[in-house]
Amino acid sequence: MNVLGIETSCDETGVAVYATDAGLRAHALYSQVALHAEYGGVVPELASRDHVRKLLPLIRQTLGEAGLRVEDLDGVAYTAGPGLVGALLVGAGVARALAWALQVPAIGVHHMEGHLLAPLLEDPALRPPFVALLVSGGHTQLVAVEAIGRYRLLGETLDDAAGEAFDKTAKLMGLPYPGGPQLAALAEQGRPGAFRFARPMTDRPGLDFSFSGLKTQVLLAWQGSDQGEQTRADIARAFEEAVVETLAIKCERALEATGHDTLIVAGGVGANRRLRAALEAMTARRGARVRFPRPAFCTDNGAMIAFAGALRLAAGLHDDAAVRVHARWDMAGLPEVRGGRG
Ligand code: ATP
Ligand code: MG
Ligand code: FE
Repeated sequence: MNVLGIETSCDETGVAVYATDAGLRAHALYSQVALHAEYGGVVPELASRDHVRKLLPLIRQTLGEAGLRVEDLDGVAYTAGPGLVGALLVGAGVARALAWALQVPAIGVHHMEGHLLAPLLEDPALRPPFVALLVSGGHTQLVAVEAIGRYRLLGETLDDAAGEAFDKTAKLMGLPYPGGPQLAALAEQGRPGAFRFARPMTDRPGLDFSFSGLKTQVLLAWQGSDQGEQTRADIARAFEEAVVETLAIKCERALEATGHDTLIVAGGVGANRRLRAALEAMTARRGARVRFPRPAFCTDNGAMIAFAGALRLAAGLHDDAAVRVHARWDMAGLPEVRGGRG
């Protein structure tokens, strides 16, 4: 079964084809980062319009790279939420129209399930149960995954998401938008121990997170410093270490609490090198294991949507013909995927 995947939940247009027998056949991504840079953040209306401009050319390009004609598609998967409603509607509308014209089933995919399943796209032998750490621009969650589609929230952020904290911290030290990856790059030049910030909420039991206070600590340290290049790198390093250690502590607790020995990590912050190393070390020490997607599949992409949709379509799940999207959407309400993998 050849499934076309379409991602348009925010500022990335992602398209891919996943074949249930042959795996990922092609994927393409167009990022709107340059478009939104001068505003310092994503402008929803501009994002929607740019998806309109880019989606059909990207679908043609992806099909071409896969060596497929549009008639070779057996199903269409699209991100139906959570995300920006106007942006989501572009992908949903195109996906629905295509499925209707081809008379094939289509399914609305939960964007965070897409992120969560990305490590399985990379390693077909991975199976639940496991603990998932979702660390993206809008979410920081620990989820117990008993089966594909059966998700139990263990803990989440009470304020900023980890990616959001990276982006806001970068901004307050004057780094250009989007700052998260740049802050991480700068941290490589930082000297260990030059600054130290708190590990929020690790001093009490529980699996929730809070990152907004860290931002304030960084602001005070930055304002009270010489604001030189080395200082900025030193602060970036201390900030990154605080976030990474906090995430690692909570991941270990989640493994402990569930008794699972596999941790999977997904979402943009999963691309962070120090986080990857810290979680490798923590799981190795416990005799457990951790799996990540390649960095390009940590951030938004069409491949994860094609894959998540293909698992559901192959199990006989699909949606009716209405174009429906959700700005907010609880992953715990998703139906379990039975009969497929997992
Ligand atoms: P959501 O998936 O919650 O809707 P999103 O789609 O915007 O949010 P992603 O695309 O998964 O989020 O990830 C983007 C986030 O990841 C940004 O906040 C970005 O700063 C962060 N990020 C990307 N690379 C790195 C890195 N190397 N280190 C730290 N953060 C990073
Ligand atoms: Mg993005
Ligand atoms: Fe995302």
